[in-house]
Amino acid sequence: MNEILPPCPECSGTFAYEMGALLVCPECGHEWSAAASQTLDSGSGEKVIKDSVGNVLADGDTVTVVKTLKVKGSPAGIKAGTKVRNIRLVDGVDGHDIDCKVDGFGPMQLKSSVVKKA
Ligand SMILES: [Zn+2]
Repeated sequence: MNEILPPCPECSGTFAYEMGALLVCPECGHEWSAAASQTLDSGSGEKVIKDSVGNVLADGDTVTVVKTLKVKGSPAGIKAGTKVRNIRLVDGVDGHDIDCKVDGFGPMQLKSSVVKKA
């Protein structure tokens, strides 16, 4: 539990703390995935997007949500285990790098850190 966490990629603050699969910077409020911050492909400069267990994701993949996600306007949210088909990888805001359509919820963006390749 005492591992040293990387500094905030936004403000280089060193007080980041873990919140689930994410790191949170209390200084600027930035949230990012510790895993995702290490997946930059230096060869092409293109970002490799990996799921919560390290599988590389691609457009058209089917993934499973690994933890219940809060959704505005939905009391239950998206339950862990929900299957999401035909994802599209995007360069989204705030680490939301998957564009998809969730059954019963419609189009939305998810973070790759909360899904697992199905
Ligand atoms: Zn910060």
